[in-house]
Amino acid sequence: MVKVGIPRALLYYQYYPMWKTFFEELGAEVVVSPPTTQATLSAGSSRVVADTCLPVKIFCGHVLALVDKCDYIFIPALRSVKSKIYNCSKFLGLPDMTRAVIPECPPILDIDIDINKGKRRLYQAIYVLGRHLSRSPLKVRKAALAAWQAHREYKELMVNESLAPPQAIAGVTAEKHSTPNQASIALVGHPYLLYDELINHRLTHRLEQAGYRVLTPEMLTAEQLETAITRLTGQPYWTYEEEVVGSGGHYLESGVEGAIGVIAFGCGPDSLMMDMVQRQAIRLKTTPFMSLTLEEHSAEAGVVTRLEAFLDMIQRKKRRGAEVCV
Ligand code: SF4
Repeated sequence: MVKVGIPRALLYYQYYPMWKTFFEELGAEVVVSPPTTQATLSAGSSRVVADTCLPVKIFCGHVLALVDKCDYIFIPALRSVKSKIYNCSKFLGLPDMTRAVIPECPPILDIDIDINKGKRRLYQAIYVLGRHLSRSPLKVRKAALAAWQAHREYKELMVNESLAPPQAIAGVTAEKHSTPNQASIALVGHPYLLYDELINHRLTHRLEQAGYRVLTPEMLTAEQLETAITRLTGQPYWTYEEEVVGSGGHYLESGVEGAIGVIAFGCGPDSLMMDMVQRQAIRLKTTPFMSLTLEEHSAEAGVVTRLEAFLDMIQRKKRRGAEVCV
């Protein structure tokens, strides 16, 4: 059976069930790289220039972890999935960058996704991708429809059951991960930062250990995210505005105990978007907000200290009913 590797990085948390369904429907076995370790990060960092953003370094490490374990690696170039809303440039050249920096990489299955070029071009691109595994256009079409259905169910599951992507992928049920009336803290940021425990030093786990329920962008509906974006910035331009501006804007006014914005050092789009969320937190003065910038050399102790100080501030605010600090 043909093995298709999928790196557990960047777009994995958003699209894994869809990709898995597509390739399995075409008769392939899907192999996912193991969770990130320090060795993954070091290996990825050794292949790219120093100022490459942390998530892309980690992505390279995951590709290296799949070398010799699969026949193909799936790396899409995701330009745009909504009309006139564009992805960060790092995603556009991902297949080409990978070929350049990891020459030993197995053949890359890439697909150029740009909804602005029309549905016909998208269908053609899906067919070209599927043709690597099946010559039958009907089979590819069936696989694409099944994949789309899996994606919709995945998104609905996360919203309806308030699940984060790793929980939805692992099949955790709502009853197992929260208790009624539990105080909540919202995490705002890209999935590849929020759910990679090496990058974020087990942020979710630490908050849960402190007794909080953790809310994330994927638990919100498209309408909730769009409403918050329109309120804060008007017309969106970046694909990931939903995860940062949309979820940040929403959670700041939703009655959570606090919100934590997580960004990667050196990320241009995030530095702009998170700044908008931070300004909104200062304007509203209703929800304590902390911005956490993660980088390759972020020490665990530093993250823990900041988190403890933030949780202390939330407790003090509760006790005194005072105006919040940001
Ligand atoms: S949005 Fe920022 S962190 Fe994400 S890939 Fe682009 S530059 Fe890197």
